[in-house]
Amino acid sequence: MSERKDPQRIGVLGATGSVGKSTLDVIAQHPERYQVTALAAHQDSAGMEALARAFQPQYVVMANEHAARDLRRALSDCRGIEVHSGPEALVAMAADPVIDTVVAAIVGAAGLPACLAAVEAGKRILLANKEALVMAGDLLIRAARASGATILPIDSEHNGLFQCLPVDRQGVADLTGVEQLWLTASGGPFRERDPATLSSVTVEQACAHPNWAMGQKISIDSATMMNKGLEVIEACRLFGLPAAQVSVVIHPQSLVHALVQYRDGSMLAQLGAADMRVPIAQALGWPDRLQSGVSGLDLATIGSLEFLPPDDQRFPCLGLARQALIESPGATVALNAANEVAVEAFLNRSLRFDRIAGVIDATLAMMEHKVDTALEALLEHDQRARVNAQQQLSQWSQ
Ligand code: NDP
Ligand code: MG
Repeated sequence: MSERKDPQRIGVLGATGSVGKSTLDVIAQHPERYQVTALAAHQDSAGMEALARAFQPQYVVMANEHAARDLRRALSDCRGIEVHSGPEALVAMAADPVIDTVVAAIVGAAGLPACLAAVEAGKRILLANKEALVMAGDLLIRAARASGATILPIDSEHNGLFQCLPVDRQGVADLTGVEQLWLTASGGPFRERDPATLSSVTVEQACAHPNWAMGQKISIDSATMMNKGLEVIEACRLFGLPAAQVSVVIHPQSLVHALVQYRDGSMLAQLGAADMRVPIAQALGWPDRLQSGVSGLDLATIGSLEFLPPDDQRFPCLGLARQALIESPGATVALNAANEVAVEAFLNRSLRFDRIAGVIDATLAMMEHKVDTALEALLEHDQRARVNAQQQLSQWSQ
């Protein structure tokens, strides 16, 4: 008789977001394999209440205290579900021994401390929170090697690369014979828009990605192509390659997610529908293959796939990210922080879309970027960059 394995116990950081919900959708298709043990978010108490009722975790965490209080009231009839609160509770959840796999899907720098805690605790981590790698890639990768944690990328391009590379049992890729990694980019909603009109772009237009449905911040990052810049940094950190070995190609259909070019001239590509459940299911099940709820592609109906060079003039953020990557790890911390501040200002309608890159560039130019790679030093540099970016905003705001 074959032995029945206990279900894997999962904690989802950023459960109420786009990636969080896609993850829970895949998990719900495999109740025999996965059990949701804990869920965490920031302030969406209504969204969390619905998830808690559906998945019955042992506990939930709300980073915001008021949201936690609302949620405690809302879940008062569910005695089995505890509600914890505050940023330190996120870190405790990420390291909780009752959890086997942590899904790191908080948006932005706010996700870094919990992500690092999960890595230091030796968990299996499904990593969507690219900003954590941009800020602290070396620290996270070193911590994973020391603790035995397995980092599985679910950002679709990096998951595509992971699938095209040979990997060991800890999920570490062997890059022998690899000449170049290629990330595809859709080009976002403004790939063909007259650059002279980018000054009048609205939040609604910038959030309307042609192929992917995502959270607001990454949607704006996709429209400026900072998302691809962050992803170039993410790829270098994850796979330990220099900037020159990671390239970007525009692919408007978003069906080929990444390619690995080997020295013999072979290129391996990963294809799939533009639906995050595909990379999430791959990482969740790895090394097994699970149903994701998404079908394969009907290539004959799709007919053709296009590839074009990126337009650096139209999308200066891509160049800024590369420059920061080449300069130093501290510069990528400041790049990420300034971008978060500028994107938030655009979302609040106090900064023009075409000034996002200018704010980031000016912030980086104000600073020295020599920083120690310890978490505290990185967070301090992040804070300094935020203060400087706010100062820039007062000059660039409309
Ligand atoms: P969303 O904005 O949809 O969701 C963000 C999640 O993070 C929400 O659950 C939010 O909680 C939570 N959150 C935000 N701030 C905090 C905080 N301070 N403390 C705790 N939780 C917090 O984002 P996405 O799901 O789109 O993106 C998540 C990450 O995944 C990003 O890093 C993004 O770059 C990456 N990614 C996303 C993809 C996508 O398709 N969406 C694709 C590839 C990568 P609340 O709802 O309560 O505010
Ligand atoms: Mg991506």
